[in-house]
Amino acid sequence: MSRAPAAIGEADLHTHSVVSDGTESPAELMRQAAAAGLRAVALTDHDSTSGWAEAAAAVPETGVALIPGMELSTREGFTSVHLLGYLVDPLDEPLLAETARIRESRLTRAEEIVRRIARDYDLSWSDVLDQTVEGATIGRPHIADALVARGHAATRSAAFAGILHPRAGYAQPHYAPDPLTGVRLIRAAGGVPVLAHPGTRGAEQVVPPARLAKLVDAGLFGLEVDHPENRADAKPRLRELAARFGLEITGSSDYHGAGKPNRLGECRTAADVVARLVAEARGSAPVLPPE
Ligand code: AMP
Ligand code: FE
Ligand code: FE
Ligand code: ZN
Repeated sequence: MSRAPAAIGEADLHTHSVVSDGTESPAELMRQAAAAGLRAVALTDHDSTSGWAEAAAAVPETGVALIPGMELSTREGFTSVHLLGYLVDPLDEPLLAETARIRESRLTRAEEIVRRIARDYDLSWSDVLDQTVEGATIGRPHIADALVARGHAATRSAAFAGILHPRAGYAQPHYAPDPLTGVRLIRAAGGVPVLAHPGTRGAEQVVPPARLAKLVDAGLFGLEVDHPENRADAKPRLRELAARFGLEITGSSDYHGAGKPNRLGECRTAADVVARLVAEARGSAPVLPPE
């Protein structure tokens, strides 16, 4: 007789710590999850699994189950596409090599963005380093925080709407593989891939069915339909695509601590979807609190 796996229940499947562009340590994030009444949370820092150990160590104390994951950067032409990769093997060589390449490119890209901004504003690279912890995946949010610290913007969001907006002419892209490569990398690392916030650009910009079909063939598990930044007009379209392709629907907050208004647990994934996700994973296991 096979033993039923411990039920994790519903979960917030997308959060960030200081390991990328969140503002809380992984342990603090776990404490915040407990305070928000969550029983399970996924830590999904951009292009990194470096926060897993600290978050896992906080599981017994907080009683919150951890589903380790990452948010892998990919790119389709000029459009950035994020893939959530749950329960990957954190030591998988191809995935490690690709995320190292992305992080390296993020670093040189951020330095270039700062060089450009510094022509017009008082801002230095050390201002950005002041906003990051050692080894963090660098992104525009850290530059935004440096702009805030220097008094050039009121908040991170204001910096994104102003100096960091593509139209302002300072921002530029970083290296990222295409989404199909991303889905394959995550599956090859034993993980479970979900297309992150696929409706932030509205119904017209939702991934075309032919392109989605390729991702599904490569092993895409689901669509993050319930996300604070998915536009309302995109959600019916996404639900229709999920039904058509047999994809699961996930829900998550994309919490970044004080870096974004998203509240922990404001969107969640149903218990049965979480159970199926965990059952498909081969790369690593959820960390459960003691019974
Ligand atoms: P990057 O990874 O450097 O391209 O920056 C993208 C990240 O910036 C996303 O993962 C978000 O967390 C963050 N971001 C994007 N827009 C905003 C915004 N308006 N306010 C705060 N954070 C944002
Ligand atoms: Fe982010
Ligand atoms: Fe994202
Ligand atoms: Zn995210």
